Amino acid sequence: MRSVTVLAPAKLNLTLDVTGTRPDGYHTLDMIMQAVSLRERVTLRRSRGLSLSLPGSRVPANEHNTAYKAALAFFHGTGLLAGAAITVEKHVPVRAGMAGGSADAAAVLVGLNELYGARLSAAELCALGAQVGADVPFSIVGGTARVTGVGDILEPLKPCPPCFFTVCMPAGGISTPQAYARYDRIGTDVRPDSAAAAAAIARGDLAGLCAQMKNALEYSSASAATKPICETLRAHGALAALMTGSGAAVFGVFADEAPAQAAKAALLRVYPQCWVLRPEAKGARVVGRG
Ligand code: ATP
Repeated sequence: MRSVTVLAPAKLNLTLDVTGTRPDGYHTLDMIMQAVSLRERVTLRRSRGLSLSLPGSRVPANEHNTAYKAALAFFHGTGLLAGAAITVEKHVPVRAGMAGGSADAAAVLVGLNELYGARLSAAELCALGAQVGADVPFSIVGGTARVTGVGDILEPLKPCPPCFFTVCMPAGGISTPQAYARYDRIGTDVRPDSAAAAAAIARGDLAGLCAQMKNALEYSSASAATKPICETLRAHGALAALMTGSGAAVFGVFADEAPAQAAKAALLRVYPQCWVLRPEAKGARVVGRG
């Protein structure tokens, strides 16, 4: 095998609560994450050295890139003396709270495991992924999960009830460290109950889940920017409308496709990027071998 192609899904936060701050400054979280049908496409070719390109993207292809870090973690972790030429086709918006960078890292780990026949288990890949970023294990596993700790403790849940997500990316993203710094200054009046949301998922109760969907970071983050998007989503019948992660993307949940598409059409008159997405059961996965 000379090359592999991997797809890795973006995520949305169905809930996000900040439960505390550790002495090292990291925030502890309680959230429900959902993989969605917007996917990064990553191709890895055998090569002696390590190289990275992201055609058409402004994200730098340097040693700070999550794809590059994941490759180093893989070769270091396995002891394999090899390299790879990595091409990342970015489809997930940057600084959106949709874990695009984590999806790239997950794709690289899953892809290198296949390319070099390393036979690492999912748990071993997740342990390498956690060295690169807190959301990487989720990007490997996908589906629906309750995530706690600093984002590193993952409890898979039953699939979320069938629905459509209309996702809108305002111009200009939000930096995750800045979002948490603002949260530390301003605090929140939004307190989601992830246990109640998980119980609604277990019952297959979409309306009950939507009633629990909140993001503690939304209050301090970008309410001026998110509010008009949420209003448009609700005006089209969204059962819930909120920011994902630390922003800047905002999404609404619909039981049916027609109103989800109508909301997308209305938002595209104002905002540059908008999608209708479905829940996705899988995480990063090999789709091609050459
Ligand atoms: P999360 O939901 O995990 O907080 P996010 O959507 O807010 O993710 P990303 O788009 O994943 O954020 O990453 C944002 C930052 O990380 C940017 O400043 C970017 O330069 C840097 N970065 C490093 N590698 C990547 C990558 N492969 N893709 C996107 N951004 C990357």
